[in-house]
Amino acid sequence: MELTEAARGRERIVVDARETFVATRALRELSLDYTGEAPRSVALVLSSGTERALVARSENGKLRVDLGATIAKGRAFTVRVVVSNALVQGTGRDRNAIGTFGGFVAQDTSEGRRMLSTLNWPKLGRTWIPLRDHPADGAMFALRATFPKRFTVVGNGKLVSSRESGESKVWEYENLVPIPSYDFHVAAYDGWKETDVAAPSGKHVHTWVYGADQPTSSVMLGELPKALAFYEKLVGPFRFEQAGFLEEPIWAGGMENAGVVSLDETLFRTPQESRTTAFHELAHHWSGNLVRIRRWNDFWLSEGFTDYLSHRFVEENDGAAASSKEWGVALGRATGSDGAFALRPGDAAEFDPVRFMNASAIPYDKGAWVLRTVEGIVGRPALDAFLHGWFARHAFEAVTTEQWEAELSSETGRDLSGFFSGFVHGTGHPELRVTLTATAAGGTRIAVDQTQAGAAFAVPVTLELSGASGGAPTLATIDLRDKHVEKEVPQTVRRAIVDPKGVLYGLVACSSDDPCRTGTSCRAGFCRAL
Ligand SMILES: [Zn+2]
Repeated sequence: MELTEAARGRERIVVDARETFVATRALRELSLDYTGEAPRSVALVLSSGTERALVARSENGKLRVDLGATIAKGRAFTVRVVVSNALVQGTGRDRNAIGTFGGFVAQDTSEGRRMLSTLNWPKLGRTWIPLRDHPADGAMFALRATFPKRFTVVGNGKLVSSRESGESKVWEYENLVPIPSYDFHVAAYDGWKETDVAAPSGKHVHTWVYGADQPTSSVMLGELPKALAFYEKLVGPFRFEQAGFLEEPIWAGGMENAGVVSLDETLFRTPQESRTTAFHELAHHWSGNLVRIRRWNDFWLSEGFTDYLSHRFVEENDGAAASSKEWGVALGRATGSDGAFALRPGDAAEFDPVRFMNASAIPYDKGAWVLRTVEGIVGRPALDAFLHGWFARHAFEAVTTEQWEAELSSETGRDLSGFFSGFVHGTGHPELRVTLTATAAGGTRIAVDQTQAGAAFAVPVTLELSGASGGAPTLATIDLRDKHVEKEVPQTVRRAIVDPKGVLYGLVACSSDDPCRTGTSCRAGFCRAL
């Protein structure tokens, strides 16, 4: 690509894309996603290197390329498309319009300098490059970018070369592993300062941060090598060239562009709080980037898993109290909004990713919590072993929720269909009320009612039972299946703490007589995070 017009407000980029595809069926027409200006040329690149011009027509956001002859199933072929587009002029006011703000954007940073950068999520790459723009399709991405020489240009993968040529500089990057197209990233700026630190595995954390934000960036990004080491131990090797983090003006958060994460410049004003955004984006290099989602409906496999992993790092790094607080906040957000749609919405239509972002507590917070509940059911060692295998087996593939459910059930030897039906494929959450009744024989009948509207959730719940004598409490597990279940125990129980470890996605009713577990208090009828 080349920046052919650099004047402020008139920036324009020419992309000369050579795209290699594998035909997954006999193919006469190649359908690419593209909404930019009409292509200058489209050609088939023959094995001799010569080109044959092709006819392409634009139709409803697609560029339909007549390949001239049928390409057999399984054959690879290369198409060259040249497009020229004006960069999107970012005003700074539109940045949080997730889903519509993005493409290849020219805008001023908080330093008042010009940045030219891409923001492709979820479907905006197609505004500047014709491509198969869906995470089901992974693609390698090699970049040769010619920009005015004052810019530092960053792209996914390994920096292969950079050389000055007159008033320009040519940068070459290679990312030779498949990534989702929303991860393709190019950014050019002349105000970054770079740092580079090796993690224990030898992989590098590389940062590009505005000069003025260097001091805060050490707080915000300084623990990333430790986080990288933690994730590698938990879920397997980091499989990208480097863990790069760039300060850019994007929406008020991060974007996990593989190997070259974008972090919004506003995050650097609250570096302590923003650490977790950086931990989250790094964790995407397993969930989302390494193991892609097959459909947008499976979005929780990207965001929920990523939040689960970053919560685990916070527990390791910041301690149990900080982690517990984070989980509590997430539970409040998720249970407050999970009626809108299921964690994995049904197949009637492919789900709009922007709808997920408008109720992001569902894929992110509920997603992470459902994994925490699975951890409570199968145990941490079993879940950790499963996750390690999952990311190894499906590296550079796109996966579905059905695969995750089937493999988890098979590996743990548990029938989790009832659990998935309520927590993953259903809306809402369980609301539990426990009632203790003395039996004639001197024991206690424990009744657990699910008081939420709708069907019962199937999940085991642990109760911590205390008697009158003041002895050590005992634990009992009750399998919830119906909206009312009972269990009798031989001893006198005065008090039952529901879910003492706080691993169940749901709410527990409380009153002055029914206390809450440590770390929560009774408010508006339910135990809630302090
Ligand atoms: Zn994310």
